Amino acid sequence: MIEKRQFYINGSWVDAREGTDCQVINPSTEEPCAVIALGGQADTDAAVAAAKAALPGWMATPPAQRIACVERLLAVYEARAEEMAQAISLEMGAPIDLARSGQTGAGSWHLKNFIDAARAFDFEAPLNDHAPEDRIIHEAVGVAALITPWNWPMNQVTLKVGAAAVAGCTMVLKPSEESPLSALLFAEMVDAADFPPGVFNLVNGDGAGVGSQLSAHPDVDMVSFTGSTRAGKLISKAAADTLKRVHLELGGKGANLIFADADAKAVKRGVIHMMENTGQSCNAPSRMMVEASVYDRAVQEATEFAEATRVAPADEEGRHIGPVVNAVQWGKIQDLIQKGIDEGARLVAGGPGRPEGLNRGFFVRPTVFADVTPDMTIAREEIFGPVLSIMKFDTEEDAVRIANDTPYGLTNYVQTQDGARRNRLARQLRSGMVQMNGKSRSAGSPFGGMKQSGNGREGGHWGIADFLEVKAVSGWAAE
Ligand code: NAD
Repeated sequence: MIEKRQFYINGSWVDAREGTDCQVINPSTEEPCAVIALGGQADTDAAVAAAKAALPGWMATPPAQRIACVERLLAVYEARAEEMAQAISLEMGAPIDLARSGQTGAGSWHLKNFIDAARAFDFEAPLNDHAPEDRIIHEAVGVAALITPWNWPMNQVTLKVGAAAVAGCTMVLKPSEESPLSALLFAEMVDAADFPPGVFNLVNGDGAGVGSQLSAHPDVDMVSFTGSTRAGKLISKAAADTLKRVHLELGGKGANLIFADADAKAVKRGVIHMMENTGQSCNAPSRMMVEASVYDRAVQEATEFAEATRVAPADEEGRHIGPVVNAVQWGKIQDLIQKGIDEGARLVAGGPGRPEGLNRGFFVRPTVFADVTPDMTIAREEIFGPVLSIMKFDTEEDAVRIANDTPYGLTNYVQTQDGARRNRLARQLRSGMVQMNGKSRSAGSPFGGMKQSGNGREGGHWGIADFLEVKAVSGWAAE
């Protein structure tokens, strides 16, 4: 059993002051694989105090030196990538090949992109050519609390730590209690990269404890949160009394609009994307909306692709999906599958219970519902499991109306060969991202949502900007 009860505060590994033990469960076996400590107020206070003390020095450190720290971190991260993949796969159940490529790979990708974006960032610049005495200074927001989820653990941690570090913020990371092992390893990497003490601190804890304590803390200037819309609301309320900046990356219920002229692989791509990471992605295309004339064929194809999706333990190599993260999540998904059946959707693949031959572990059958209508629970709630809802539409106007009829607004998808229609839809869909014809977003593109999917943007230039204040100075002397 792995025992990791310490926190990383002010450049050292320290014992928890108010720690209570918490087991980390391997979702493939339902057995404990590690024990960590969940901290309390005294641990939160110590980490925030270290970050506050380190802030003036880090803000005054020239951007080039802050970037150099992140470059050293990237080198260590890449050297220890296999350890990272093993930690992620064990704690949250991503199949080992996905843990190596998509999961661990996302971390190096974001750190690289921040290095590039920070080099090009004008931290200080004249207002314009006609106002040489007006200077715009971008300076760090201050002490940032970084609260992250378990589903793409290093993706989220690097999106926040990389941006905060180059922006000049000092920080306290509270990773999800479901995925603490990858974050503890990441803290070892920060240590090896020689960040000045106090710039980066890590305290483990749960949402009600360290999470709320950070959100309400008077010495925390900003909370950057990724997780559920439920927790995002609680954090916003807890942060209100101190009026700190609250950056939110929340849930989603993405629509994937498939028109009759879509390319031949559109349905397959939609199913694979939905099932990836066992459906546990905020940007999953969970509502497949298909034009009426090709609807029956799309349902048939989606059924076949879902039935061909293999489910297996996370440590097995090869292409398959793993378990979902924990018992609560498994139960929630089962309830929603049952609700789909009860509310009259047509179950065409998967269904309740575990896949055949997998009697232990939080495994879910890759499930597809057809004839889903916009009022059904499975069309409205984020399921966060391998469950696809297929809906029919008649006209482009209907498609836009149904796609936008959700409290969420993270990512929508469009599949059509008609370029004019694509561009029209990209403007009309109310989401922070629109991905069309399977094209993924390029390096440095901002990730984030509208409506109840949040208000922040992560990655590249915009990710750095979210950790900065804009200061307008007049009377600047020529240098
Ligand atoms: P969660 O909200 O339960 O937990 C996320 C983090 O918040 C954890 O560290 C948790 O300890 C903490 N937390 C929980 N309650 C808190 C509170 N009251 N105060 C402070 N902190 C609190 O979410 P999860 O189950 O870990 O992750 C899944 C959710 O994350 C999904 O809804 C998913 O869509 C969302 N997500 C969003 C994005 C995005 O970028 N938009 C990316 C990944 C995941």
